[in-house]
Amino acid sequence: MEKRSELYAGKAKSVYYTDDPDYLILQFRNDTSAFDGEKVEQLERKGMVNNKFNAFIMQTLEQAGIPTHFERLLGDDESLVKHMEMIPVECVVRNVAAGSLVRRLGVEDGMSLNPPTFEFFLKNDALHDPMINESHILTFGWASEEEIAQMKQLTLRVNEVLKRLFDEAGMLLVDYKLEFGRFHGQVILGDEFSPDGCRLWDKQTRDKLDKDRFRQGLGGVVEAYEEVARRLGVVLD
Ligand code: UDP
Repeated sequence: MEKRSELYAGKAKSVYYTDDPDYLILQFRNDTSAFDGEKVEQLERKGMVNNKFNAFIMQTLEQAGIPTHFERLLGDDESLVKHMEMIPVECVVRNVAAGSLVRRLGVEDGMSLNPPTFEFFLKNDALHDPMINESHILTFGWASEEEIAQMKQLTLRVNEVLKRLFDEAGMLLVDYKLEFGRFHGQVILGDEFSPDGCRLWDKQTRDKLDKDRFRQGLGGVVEAYEEVARRLGVVLD
């Protein structure tokens, strides 16, 4: 697969065309950002760790019957993915209260959420990713009723698979954000699943093993990501 010109550069990943219009190359960079791009740093090895971690999770989800855009690893920081048309909404599931939910609703940080909550956010940095509901998605044409149902169903199925996977490796999947797209008429999982877009706590100590270490300036960010990968048996190098 030949790498062509850049299609798009996001905050942590760049996307390139290939010689096949159905496929793109995702490059995971070391750039790490928080607070809508206000805090940005380069963290050595993060691109490689997230690329390999994402590959492992996407393959695990595919094996569980969840369609994803992931095709294969191409190198340390690059993967081949299907060229989808992105749906501009973020789907967030929470098993434990943290982050914006605690700030918004004043509930206790760390309380367990049963059943888990499901929220939609609009993918729009300039507007700080506002929370939206299904009627907004329909009225503004971001997705159809059927696509909304598919995104919800797939996001909750991902929860069943990953909650168990992390639990068996001694971790609590607190919350996570997924993005979907359309590929030849089908809704499939896109973007990435890595400690940049979820919260993971050690089950015993409740130590944070995710991007909150960066947001809160706790240090040891990539070391924590590598620890998560090690516990899951992801081969890094
Ligand atoms: N999240 C993300 N990108 C965003 C917003 C949220 O990956 O633009 C993830 C975040 O890492 C967490 C979950 O979605 O795992 C829920 O985030 P929350 O709404 O609590 O927002 P935050 O506290 O991160 O601002």
